[in-house]
Amino acid sequence: MPTLAEVLRENTREGELYEKLDANRVRCYACGHCCPIPDGASGVCKVRFNEGGTLKVPWGYVAGAQCDPIEKKPFFHVRPGALAFSFGMLGCDLHCSYCQNWVTSQALRDPEAVSPPMRAAPEQLVRTAVAQHAEAVVSTYNEPLITSEWAVAVFKEAKRAGLLTGYVSNGNATPQVLEYLRPWLDLCKVDLKSFDDRRYRKLGGRLQPVLETIRSLHGMGIWVEIVTLLVPGFNDSEPELSGLTEFIAGVSPDLPWHVTAYHPDYKMHEHGSTSVGDLARAAEIGRRAGLRFIYAGNLPGMVGGLEDTLCPQCGTRLVERRGYRILRYQLTTDGRCPGCSAPIAGRWAGGFRPQITSRPLAQRLHRT
Ligand code: SF4
Repeated sequence: MPTLAEVLRENTREGELYEKLDANRVRCYACGHCCPIPDGASGVCKVRFNEGGTLKVPWGYVAGAQCDPIEKKPFFHVRPGALAFSFGMLGCDLHCSYCQNWVTSQALRDPEAVSPPMRAAPEQLVRTAVAQHAEAVVSTYNEPLITSEWAVAVFKEAKRAGLLTGYVSNGNATPQVLEYLRPWLDLCKVDLKSFDDRRYRKLGGRLQPVLETIRSLHGMGIWVEIVTLLVPGFNDSEPELSGLTEFIAGVSPDLPWHVTAYHPDYKMHEHGSTSVGDLARAAEIGRRAGLRFIYAGNLPGMVGGLEDTLCPQCGTRLVERRGYRILRYQLTTDGRCPGCSAPIAGRWAGGFRPQITSRPLAQRLHRT
């Protein structure tokens, strides 16, 4: 029986996001680590490796694929009610001790993380997405930056089929990978996990590349929504949240900020779960910073109006939500408030189509 590492080694091809160095070494640019990798070694993510001076990268499989409500990504300003066909590979460049996707993200790093890969082809994934009436194809579940060559192959097919494309990312990118993605990427959810570089380093990353990623994506015209998982006693101090939300508002006050509730997971158990009051306090800090769209996540039906989209100009309730369910949609077909005609930032559909489902929809992949 081959090991997971052996199976993954089989499912690779030469990468595009790297340069050759001397002595058969390579430097990878798929994420902010920019690993220099000697011959025979792998990068920090463990899934990209140097074989005889060639960078081999993940290819031809998925570790999971299903249709999710687009609200689950979360994208709240992109075609509310639509389905997002979501796929992921294995591995991550960070090692957050509270990861909620650790079974896929920590493959090859944590022997407990086992999620068998299934062979797949880009056309097959997109055919499945279309058959399930998805409007977007999203790379998620593991860190998509480190498997960007595969994501772009899938996105090229998705674009041919007229679908939107998205990343659910930790934002630890490089200018090279963002330029590579630019022609093919419409949407990006970026985690802003903390506003303190020391804490980012504990998770295996750095703050600065994430801030640069958010600025660059917005500058490129890619639709960005930001998520901060609020961990009591870890990243929820007033100065930290003020700095974090002022940064977002400085890029654009129209960037939606999702502040979501934490529950103990994976290896982090020393912090308690986030309360409704914690989320409300964070939302108030974000409001003071000038953010116009703030959402409280992971406690559906418990956070007052903090799941809804309000017009920042006149306060009209534009989209009413409970969890992933859309209860009411009132934007005009050209994405404006019906009350005061203010344009509302987002990628709206030109009208609301009733939700097919507000729950994840696991279905078999269509055969190649
Ligand atoms: S994706 Fe990131 S962690 Fe993996 S090899 Fe490339 S630079 Fe290193």
